Amino acid sequence: MDLGLKDRVALITGGSYGIGRGCAEGLAKEGAHVAICARNKDKLDQTVGEIQSQFGTKALGVVADCAKASDVENFVRKTVESFGRVDILINNAGTGSDEKIETAPDDRWQYYWDLNTMSAIRCSRAVIPQMKKNGWGRIINISSVWAKQPGPYCPVYNVTKAALMMFSKCLADEVVGHNILVNNLNPGFIRTPLWEYWAGVWGKEQGITADQYMDNYAKQHTPIKRFGNTEELADVIVFLCSEKNTYMTGASIDVTGGLVKAIY
Ligand code: NAD
Repeated sequence: MDLGLKDRVALITGGSYGIGRGCAEGLAKEGAHVAICARNKDKLDQTVGEIQSQFGTKALGVVADCAKASDVENFVRKTVESFGRVDILINNAGTGSDEKIETAPDDRWQYYWDLNTMSAIRCSRAVIPQMKKNGWGRIINISSVWAKQPGPYCPVYNVTKAALMMFSKCLADEVVGHNILVNNLNPGFIRTPLWEYWAGVWGKEQGITADQYMDNYAKQHTPIKRFGNTEELADVIVFLCSEKNTYMTGASIDVTGGLVKAIY
């Protein structure tokens, strides 16, 4: 199936590894040019080089901390300077937390609000004029299953990701008249380097390997009894970003192997 993505320009927050990288590769495979950002320049440069040589499309890496407004503005500006346009935005950068509401200080709430929620708001605000000019745009916000079914130890993450879901719906309504379609993705347990790292730490406490820890965890918590991988998630996202998606907007889609204990 031709997804109509050849020579489209996609801006992805995060992207040097994990889900963001999976999205960048999925889009590059379809012929799109990609701009990614990360805080670590070496890792970013390595990923950009690998995407270019594997898929033959253009790739740009910009060092940016997405929790900072000025870095987000700079990332979008450099992407437009390099490619002349932005057609697709994937708001991916974000990370988990671990705290109690009773003791978490304001600055913790503020950091996660800036990273998990405001970075998506700021990026969207910056790219929408580009998309309006071209009469075409696709925006994906990567929230989490824990935005709708709260994870047990991370209230700050749960709350800021739930806000991202609502932002996604509000934005979809606001820009639909310009042929800009906005959807929210709620991943469940997706195997990424960060998950592998923590599974290694928690597994060690139990005398088991990272792989064994993730296997046990998935069997305990997901009906499908395994972690998803970044390609499986990217396949859904690539479709939503494509010309084949013409009617789906304002949706929140769970990609969780059946983890959500509800019908909507
Ligand atoms: P990850 O930590 O493995 O990768 C995150 C990517 O974002 C990396 O490329 C990193 O460089 C970048 N990043 C992180 N903080 C950044 C910052 N301040 N500024 C710029 N870049 C930054 O995470 P992941 O598992 O790939 O998660 C990606 C998104 O998916 C996150 O928003 C996360 O909350 C969400 N998510 C992940 C899972 C999962 O199981 N992996 C589940 C639900 C939701």
